[in-house]
Amino acid sequence: MITEISESVLAVDLGGTSIVVGEVTPDGEVLGIKSYASDTTTQSVALAAIIRAIDDYKGTIGFQAKKQLAIGIGLVGRVDEKRGIWIEIEPGKTEVLDVRGIIEQRYGLTCGIDNDVACATKAEQQFGWGKESQNFIYLNVGTGIAAGMVAEGHYVNGASFNSGEIGHMVVSMDSDVACGCGRKGCVERIASGLGLHERVTALRNQYPGTALPEPTGGERVAAAVIFEAAQGGDELALKVSEDAAKALAALVMNLVRVSDPDTIVLGGGVVKNDYFAGRVQSYLNPKTMRFVAHQLVQTKQATTEVGLAGAALAGWRASQRNGEEMKNRG
Ligand SMILES: [Zn+2]
Repeated sequence: MITEISESVLAVDLGGTSIVVGEVTPDGEVLGIKSYASDTTTQSVALAAIIRAIDDYKGTIGFQAKKQLAIGIGLVGRVDEKRGIWIEIEPGKTEVLDVRGIIEQRYGLTCGIDNDVACATKAEQQFGWGKESQNFIYLNVGTGIAAGMVAEGHYVNGASFNSGEIGHMVVSMDSDVACGCGRKGCVERIASGLGLHERVTALRNQYPGTALPEPTGGERVAAAVIFEAAQGGDELALKVSEDAAKALAALVMNLVRVSDPDTIVLGGGVVKNDYFAGRVQSYLNPKTMRFVAHQLVQTKQATTEVGLAGAALAGWRASQRNGEEMKNRG
């Protein structure tokens, strides 16, 4: 028997290269999914691309559930989740944008928005490791590096919605790897997908025997390609991936000292590689990690769906809040 699905949320996950739109149940089950090209030049441009994607999704895929409760959107940068305002896409590019107001007016549905890593962390809290842990750190290592922190069951937002930007934690005081933030030795420049590519490019001349491809036309050497070459003994790949593993291990141990988590959840394309995750693990000091009961674990979310489930959660929470307000008013 096919059970009819009554309610769903339209979820949108904005990334640097793609916008993923999908229909998600309140339990986090993804019913439909479609990808679109992204444009994050400015916040207005990105929002226009999101609206085009939603319009297309409604027209071409449509909905399985009878009723849509809300629209949930995961964004990059600083997001005031409670007020539905997108404050900043990246440092220095600020455009205070009332995304909730614009979306609600256009589609006549409640809208909730949140930062993408916050979305993933809260999805992990609701559907994944959060069932076993009240104190965990969701560490996202993809193109960039950021984290979401859950302490005593609460997600930590910070005063300016800027918590978790731990890609700029310096992990090597005498590093000569410069970062756009003005410091040297930031973990993101060493261990993110972009950082790994930059390190390969910077060190290539010192390793003439390397078999790593030399990308043309703005492409990147993928982390997976570097890790495979490292396993095959390529010296440049080994140098870059071991440096990255040490840097991430240092980051993890610094974070452990801040909030005393019992679980470090790994998310993002770079750390889903088992070889590399194992290399990070090998550099962890057992004494520093002694209270981290679950140690380093992989996210329980499907990689392609974690952003979507989190975005849906933002929409669902906004609709719950709306319902509460109506009740209080009535
Ligand atoms: Zn930095």
